Amino acid sequence: MRELNVSLLIELVRSAGSTSRAELARQSQLSAPTVGTIVDHLIERGILVEVALAPSNGGRPPVLLSIDATAGYVIGIKLRGDGLTTVICDLEAKVVATREFPVSLVGDPDGAMHAILSEVRGVLRDAKVPRSKALGLGIGMSGVIDSNAGVCVSSHLLQWHNVEIESKLRRLLRLPVWIDNDVNTLAVAEKWSGDARGARHFVTLSIGRGIGLGIVIDRALYRGAFGSSGEFGHIIVEPGGPICECGRSGCLEAVVGEDTMRREIGEGLGRTISRSEMISLMNAGDSVTCGIVEAAGQKLGISVANIMTLLNPEMLIICGEGTELGSTFLDPIIRSVREQTFASLGLKIEVKIQRWGDEAWAVGAATLVLRESFSLPGSDTRSLAIWHRRGQ
Ligand SMILES: [Zn+2]
Repeated sequence: MRELNVSLLIELVRSAGSTSRAELARQSQLSAPTVGTIVDHLIERGILVEVALAPSNGGRPPVLLSIDATAGYVIGIKLRGDGLTTVICDLEAKVVATREFPVSLVGDPDGAMHAILSEVRGVLRDAKVPRSKALGLGIGMSGVIDSNAGVCVSSHLLQWHNVEIESKLRRLLRLPVWIDNDVNTLAVAEKWSGDARGARHFVTLSIGRGIGLGIVIDRALYRGAFGSSGEFGHIIVEPGGPICECGRSGCLEAVVGEDTMRREIGEGLGRTISRSEMISLMNAGDSVTCGIVEAAGQKLGISVANIMTLLNPEMLIICGEGTELGSTFLDPIIRSVREQTFASLGLKIEVKIQRWGDEAWAVGAATLVLRESFSLPGSDTRSLAIWHRRGQ
């Protein structure tokens, strides 16, 4: 509860630019003493600063608060099968420097550790940020991640199993490290500085190599008991259907994924086709291609609508490279959300399409650290480390 209050106050200051303690208490509906305690901690921590006085309306003019965005920096990394994207951001999540490192990480966690170390040093150098100002590193990757233990339990994409990432990197970097599923990091970023800033309950649907959900309930990310919530691509929609990467058959992503669409289109043409060929055929209005893409959108849309009925979020954010397939693919999904849920009862779900690149995914990973650095120190040793880091 305390952590949520801290991030709520930070969000209010960020969105206002500058504001008073009284205004924070009014907007957050927290008591004045609670607001006072949190604000004092944040000032001590260097995150909030007291700035100019507001124009007086006769009484004592209140002191305004704003965020010192350069009080610290956070590093975020998006791990892919074919490389990593690294960013360093200030406390407003504004990107100061970005690096790209193409390298195959499939089946090679040790190689990934080395790449991460050199990229973290590189991005600090590029941004000319002293190490003492780096608050921590966040890593987003695909797969089942135990974010409490800092372990990648299993990633089909990277072919990693039970890789201890956090402890190893923390030792080598001497920085607090957080890892999470990349769809979750994206949901955190949406909450932090994206479309979902004001939303209490929302879902991000990521359509790419895999299909995943980031689920935010009552402003908190829902990870499940073992960290594998939101593995939406692996719900079974066609028992006995096509074999999935996870080894089972009939999973949603095996039925509606791009590889399946390309195979179906290729069968008609008697050859294999690339992703860009599929997109050009679709843009040229080829009826067979459009029909296959639309049918996949319809099947996916029904599953998405079922999730909307189950969770009743106020907002759905669709992202990932699947959005490049455009309205032929996306319209049937949006239509399902409108027609196959209780939308007809006036329970409107806002749908947003977000065309995010790799950099934004890395920013999502960096916001994991932001969230922690804006929390009051808890029992977690990593959150204590970040809190005291500025005193080093
Ligand atoms: Zn599967």
